[in-house]
Amino acid sequence: HERTNSMGINLANDDELRGLAAAIAAGDTDWTAAPLVPGASSTASWIDVTDPADRRRTVGRWQPADEATVQRAVTNAVAAQPAWNATPAASRAAILEHAADLMEQRMPRFIAMCTREAGKTVVDGVAEVREAVDFLRYYAGEARRQFALDTLPGPTGESNTLQLEGRGVFVCISPWNFPLAIFAGQVAAALAAGNSVLAKPAEQTNLVAHAAVKLLHEAGVPEAVLQLVPGDGASVGAALTSDPRVAGVAFTGSTATARAINRALAGRDAAIGVLIAETGGQNALIADSSSLPEQVVKDAIGSAFTSAGQRCSAARVLFVQEDIADKVIDMLAGAMAELVVGDPGELATDVGPVIDSDALCLLEEHAREMAGARLIAEAPLPAAAAHGTFFAPRAWEIDSIGRLERENFGPALHVVRWKADQLDAVVDAINATGFGLTLGIHSRIDETVERIVGRAKVGNIYVNRNQIGAVVGVQPFGGQGLSGTGPKAGGPHYLPRFATEKTVTINT
Ligand code: GLU
Repeated sequence: HERTNSMGINLANDDELRGLAAAIAAGDTDWTAAPLVPGASSTASWIDVTDPADRRRTVGRWQPADEATVQRAVTNAVAAQPAWNATPAASRAAILEHAADLMEQRMPRFIAMCTREAGKTVVDGVAEVREAVDFLRYYAGEARRQFALDTLPGPTGESNTLQLEGRGVFVCISPWNFPLAIFAGQVAAALAAGNSVLAKPAEQTNLVAHAAVKLLHEAGVPEAVLQLVPGDGASVGAALTSDPRVAGVAFTGSTATARAINRALAGRDAAIGVLIAETGGQNALIADSSSLPEQVVKDAIGSAFTSAGQRCSAARVLFVQEDIADKVIDMLAGAMAELVVGDPGELATDVGPVIDSDALCLLEEHAREMAGARLIAEAPLPAAAAHGTFFAPRAWEIDSIGRLERENFGPALHVVRWKADQLDAVVDAINATGFGLTLGIHSRIDETVERIVGRAKVGNIYVNRNQIGAVVGVQPFGGQGLSGTGPKAGGPHYLPRFATEKTVTINT
């Protein structure tokens, strides 16, 4: 089974674009997401979903799982798991591959949902669906490869085999910033490994998640094997992660929540649960005087402002060597003035809205905290932005990365100058944040690149290019330290963490 990454949409082709535009225009129809839990019907009130680009526009409604629904979901998952686990890995893989094909066929609809529910630009939407499809195919392929019975050498008269199997019930708690890709990645890995899954998407993006679960059911995943349990973290998330019947949790979100989940798993009077967490970053890009200012600016802008900076991988701090700093800062200001901020459904838009008013408040608070720093540039906001949750992309010059107290999850970039003798100190300062997700390096000097690569405590390093958009199976993605537990998503070690190992020795 030779695997290739999925096909995109050619945005320069009018025929392909028309289908997409129609799907996006039809977006404000009635999308709904209720819990998908056989035998339960939640009594919780429905909640309206509004478009982040225009809060006057309602795009759908979702319903949280009430307490009885959560309990029923766990009971269903426990009952359904043994049969799913006993299904050959190759059959589970075939179902996921079927789901990947269906998702690829329905790309316009999923892109439209990502745009209207999560504020993703069209280009981001295409990448999002492709990544989801890639995750489905990748973990399917890994299940075929890694779940095959492994016969081990041993003494005559004895047969020894090592077999991977599902751990049991897995809870997948996914983020709003990749409402389809990370959702599908977590769920696909858990399912491929033979677990039953309780999926709890971020409260902001239940509609996309609901559509993905329905598609997986259509592809052949039994309804009790994959259930959608929408709700907020404090009630539904906490109820799931503290339930002694749960074997493990896959989580992408904040470091603080990952800690809380870890405590919940440890505090149960039950087997020790496994946590696979991908959390935040304070990602830097280091440019030395040998780098090309044009390329540094292009990649800094792409890494900081794509997806409105709402990626864990996004560049937050550009360290630029003194000799080229003025030039880079000037060019950065010029390029930022050209950024098109606006409706993510429009092809020309570079930067869409942030996810909600809480996110916007945090960014505005950060802008106030930066009042003493030099503002390098602020991209213009169109008048219509007043109806949505938009934050004008900004860049400030600051004197040290230590000045940033938290991850600023939005289009906010910071620039720090450094001198030739400070390279190690720059890397140490980045390491001292405790986060270790992505790092960009721009340099034409091999020794400099090697020195930084050797010293940096980060998970993904990108040299002379942008530092976002890790490709499944090509750039396994995940961080160190405060940025996550590993193993990396889209890499060969991810799937086995969802499994337990069984060695069988037979005296023949
Ligand atoms: N995998 C994404 C990237 O490489 C980031 C994932 C995230 O933000 O959680 O840009």
